Amino acid sequence: MKPNPITPTIPFDRDGAHHGFLRLPHSRDDSAWGSVMIPVTVIRNGDGPTALLTGGNHGDEYEGPVALMNLANSLDPAEITGRVIIVPAVNFPAFRAATRTSPIDAVNLNRAFPGSPAGTVTQKIADYFNRVLVPMADIVLDYHSGGKTLDFLPFAAAHILDDRAQQAACVAAMRAFNAPYSMTMLEIDSGGMYDGAVEAQGKTFVTTELGGGGTATTRGVAIASKGARNLLKHAEILPGEPELAPTITLDMPDDTCFAFSERDGLFEPLADLGTELAEGDPLARIWPADRTGVAPSTITAPRSGIIASRHFPGLVQSGDCLAVIADIVG
Ligand code: ZN
Repeated sequence: MKPNPITPTIPFDRDGAHHGFLRLPHSRDDSAWGSVMIPVTVIRNGDGPTALLTGGNHGDEYEGPVALMNLANSLDPAEITGRVIIVPAVNFPAFRAATRTSPIDAVNLNRAFPGSPAGTVTQKIADYFNRVLVPMADIVLDYHSGGKTLDFLPFAAAHILDDRAQQAACVAAMRAFNAPYSMTMLEIDSGGMYDGAVEAQGKTFVTTELGGGGTATTRGVAIASKGARNLLKHAEILPGEPELAPTITLDMPDDTCFAFSERDGLFEPLADLGTELAEGDPLARIWPADRTGVAPSTITAPRSGIIASRHFPGLVQSGDCLAVIADIVG
């Protein structure tokens, strides 16, 4: 396969803190020989494990980028052993446009893996991570939240994997991240995800969902920041033990966790995030948006459990995910 066209402007193998860019050539109308400049920080101190920390895989999710901007500015090479690679806004064009997918090619980076060195801008970013950055890493953290259209209880997550030893390593890392909730996560649509590409390389992988609505909160940023430092301690890149607070363990055992809308309309929540429901309890009502005098339809909980995610905007479309109901397992 041809090499990836991205060139880093900083070294990955030199001690110290280096701030630069992943420069991706992007020839276009307003810049014939232009580039997409994806910010990157590499902090290294001698030999040791490598952590790859990323945010902005989706461009409208902010807890990760804020925490990683802070970390890139505050992590002292003298305090670490090994290497930390920080990319706060992986899909940088989407991040600058405040959109989930890229405004250049309309591709969702988290459905574009393994990517292609000859593909669109987003496919080239995926290929660079898949073939260049992920192979350098021992432990990988990718921050997500709900973006503009979902809101989540703040959780770190690990997936069910065929390799039990790898799964145990991922669960241990998720527990070290120590979000208020810890989720065994079932993906709604796993094809082309970064998560699967990283896991297929045998890496220890943690993802998160830390809120949403297209903004960040002080609480979400604090969870994200503590989680990154905890993870670096867990990987023995930072000294000391992770700071651990109680966490509630959640599970998404099967597809009945997801409630979908089958109509368009005005969303009336009947239960908020974190509410525990029994199967059949009312979850939301959807009113016709275009007339009065018509009864709403009521959406009920597809299973018993806690509302871990909900639709965020006030209007819904048919097919939207309205809620995720997770099991509380401990
Ligand atoms: Zn996301």
